[in-house]
Formats: sequence, C-alpha cells, structure tokens
Amino acid sequence: MIIDAHCHIWEEKLVSTEMRSILEFVTERFKPKDPSQVRDGTIGRLIREMDEAGIDKTVLLALDAGIAFRSHLTLREYNDYVIDIVRKHPDRIIGFAGIDPRRGKEAIVELERCVESGVKGLKLWTLTGFYLDDEKYYPLYEKAAELKIPMLVHTGMGPPGTYMKFNRPMYVDKVAVDFPGINIILAHIGDPWIDEAVALVIKNANVYVDISAWEPSVKFAPFVLCQTLTKIKMSCGGLHKVLFGSDWPLFTPVFPLKEWVEAIRNLTMPPPLQMMGLQDFTENDKEMILGGNAARVLGV
Ligand SMILES: [Zn+2]
Repeated sequence: MIIDAHCHIWEEKLVSTEMRSILEFVTERFKPKDPSQVRDGTIGRLIREMDEAGIDKTVLLALDAGIAFRSHLTLREYNDYVIDIVRKHPDRIIGFAGIDPRRGKEAIVELERCVESGVKGLKLWTLTGFYLDDEKYYPLYEKAAELKIPMLVHTGMGPPGTYMKFNRPMYVDKVAVDFPGINIILAHIGDPWIDEAVALVIKNANVYVDISAWEPSVKFAPFVLCQTLTKIKMSCGGLHKVLFGSDWPLFTPVFPLKEWVEAIRNLTMPPPLQMMGLQDFTENDKEMILGGNAARVLGV
C-alpha cells in the first residue's frame, strides 16, 4: 500500500493573500511551464494524480491560518472543507484538522468536533508563529492524546514573510517527552535542521518524520536523503519511522506525484557513498517508507 502522508488542497476560496504569496514564491522558485501546476490543488486533480502514481491513500492537511494570516475562511469552514472531501472519498483521503493552539478552548472544542466528523489527526502549522512546547497549549495535546490521534508538526523552512525560529524540530522534543502516547510526525525531516529532527526520531519512540518537500533535494542531490535515511536506519534499527509525503501540489513542477513515488521506489545509494561503506536500501525499507509506516501510525 502506498500512502502520501502530507498533502494540501488549494482552491480559490481557500487561498488568502499570504497563502497566495507562498504559492507565488514556489512558482517563482521552480518556474513551471504552466503556473497552475502549483496553484491548482483541487480534489479532482489530486485523485487523478494519485491514480496515476498508484497511491492508495493520501493525508489531506487542513491549515489554520486564521490568527496569523488574513484567512477569509473561518476555522470551521476550512476543516469542514476537508471533512467534506473525506466523506466523498472515504477510501482514498484521510483528513487532518488544522487548528492553531493559540485559540485556547475553541481549539479543543474544534478538535473534538473534527474527530467526531471523521478526522484522523491534527496538523500544527508552527510557521504561523507559535512555539509548540509552550505549556499553554498542553490542554489541546491532552485532548489529542485522549482521542488517540497523531499530530503532524511543520518543521523546517518557511516561506518569505514568516519567522523560521518557530519551526525548529527542537521545540517538539518536550511535547514528545511529556505526551508519550501521541505519535508526532515532523514534516520535511526538519530541513534545514535535519540533524535535530533525526536526533528527536532516534531518542523519542513516538517521533516520526515525513519526506515531503524533499523532491528538489532528491532530484538534484539524492545523497543527502540517502545519508539521512542511513543515519536513521542505523540508529533506530530500521526505517520504521520515515513516512512518504509530497506536499502536493507544491512540488509537482519538480516531480509529478508518479515520478516522486518512482524516485523513492528506485532510490539507490550513490556509488561514492557505497564506496564509503553505506549499504543500499532494501525493498522492505522502501515499502515501509512508501506506506507501511504510515499505515501503522494512522491505523489504516
Ligand atoms: Zn505542507
């Protein structure tokens, strides 16, 4: 089974001014022949591209940008948008609620409502400006623990106009220790703080990483991911804590979904690293990354 553990949905009504500048930033960086490749993130296109890529299930992350950005959707409206998609595609789409922990009690009520409506996890978008390990937010994490749902946390780079300091994997460490019952996925392996993210994965039994947004790195410098995976494999005794993800549709100009799946399926240790003694990945390693690990974490 192939599972994409990190994906978004864009449609005109979901995109605020700040979100539009994120999409423009990505478009400018990758210069796709057709800019709608980045902008058009409708469910119809997603399902079509999942089919082409042989992806069985995709995790769709709602984003709560309401506090930091001028979102024209309310918290409830964005989550309901994702819930509605899950209802229409229950076998293909797994929904995660997007909730800003700064909302206090409202956040807890909304998480409960979303999980009752079929949502399977919580996305925390730190780049909107909060430190994950502030104990003010612990009641929300207690609710997530009670509901037995995983949390996916943005770690790593952010777009222009946002502060990167909030996105360090290190701010997840205390939460991972204090809530051992919550499985936490660090998005993007915390890039550029890869070592920090890997250390958290090694130390904390409940911390995982996803490889979304690594498409450019794998396309142009695959040795970085190969070294990172080798470190995790050696230190954790396997690759059971790495999840496939795409950040669709942002990186489709670099690798359409189908090619991204194939890039991971065909990932081989570059010869210079093999000469240095690094061993190639097994079929089982790649199967676990492509879906086995996500199936376990998501309970599907
Ligand atoms: Zn993302």
